[in-house]
Amino acid sequence: MINLAEELKQVRFVAIAGHVRPDGDATGSCLGLYHYLKKNYPETDVRVYLENTPQAYSKVPGIDEVFHEVGENEAPDVFFCLDCADEKRLGGFAELKKRAKRVICIDHHVSNGGFADVNYIVPDASSTSELVFRLLDEEKMPVETAENLYMGIVHDTGVFRHSCTSPETMEIAATLMRKGIDAAGIINRTFYDKTYHQNQILGRALLESILLMDKKVIFSAIRQKEMDFYGVGPSDLDGIVQVLMSTADTEVAIFLYEVSPQTFKVSLRSREFVDVSTIAAYFGGGGHIRAAGCTMQGSIYDVVNNITLHIEKQLRQERDSD
Ligand code: 5GP
Ligand code: MN
Repeated sequence: MINLAEELKQVRFVAIAGHVRPDGDATGSCLGLYHYLKKNYPETDVRVYLENTPQAYSKVPGIDEVFHEVGENEAPDVFFCLDCADEKRLGGFAELKKRAKRVICIDHHVSNGGFADVNYIVPDASSTSELVFRLLDEEKMPVETAENLYMGIVHDTGVFRHSCTSPETMEIAATLMRKGIDAAGIINRTFYDKTYHQNQILGRALLESILLMDKKVIFSAIRQKEMDFYGVGPSDLDGIVQVLMSTADTEVAIFLYEVSPQTFKVSLRSREFVDVSTIAAYFGGGGHIRAAGCTMQGSIYDVVNNITLHIEKQLRQERDSD
């Protein structure tokens, strides 16, 4: 466990960053820690770095104070790298890691090999936000930290629904609620509410979805021209893979969207047996056993074919071991 007070003794500049295309947990863990340090270490210059966040997070406390680029001479004494399984996931903020005197990584990805000076990695934790909570003194926690950590936990547990939700996760959520946060508002505004166009593209993805492998796999893809038609971007596609996964009796959901010609961002989810993290890692990505992602080249047909081969192999092993 990290001792924050020890780590931050006489430290002047602290930088915090999360992974590229930040989700609720990356954003919530970074801003949760940011508000805590700002309140309790007033002499220290604390900055958060994140790529542009989804519109749904526009009311999240501190979101307007986020830096999107690293300044020329910014060299942190301590750099907190949150919710990042590897250095690549830092994108442009890898520069902060390079310049930092000390790098602390807090993460819950099973694929994280420990690339920092200090690594606090707990693969069975629900979220990085839960791990940040464990490092903080409850008495000294401002409500803004509670709101952000609650958002992170809500997003990575799919609103306390995924198997990563432990009794401890629920206890932490209860403690955060007692800080006086608007828990229902955070869940609705940042997780469930969708714009009209986001719902339209979700509908499109569902309409065009295909069942494969004896209905064990559900698959859908969105091309750039469809995103242009509905006027949406990649962050508007968050949550589609989860809706695909809610199709009863499926084991794996595969969702792709085109990032450039013949290049697709892949999201994988599984219900019970398939370890999608090893599949994503095989193709250069990573994640968790039940939720993982990667970027793949080729036609949609190539991508799906390559992934389903791995799913088939795992399901066969599962059958053989019975
Ligand atoms: P999503 O499908 O929602 O983009 O991501 C699911 C999980 O896999 C998240 O925990 C995310 O951090 C991880 N993930 C997604 N894409 C990548 C990737 O390209 N590389 C790595 N290492 N992890 C990824
Ligand atoms: Mn996370």
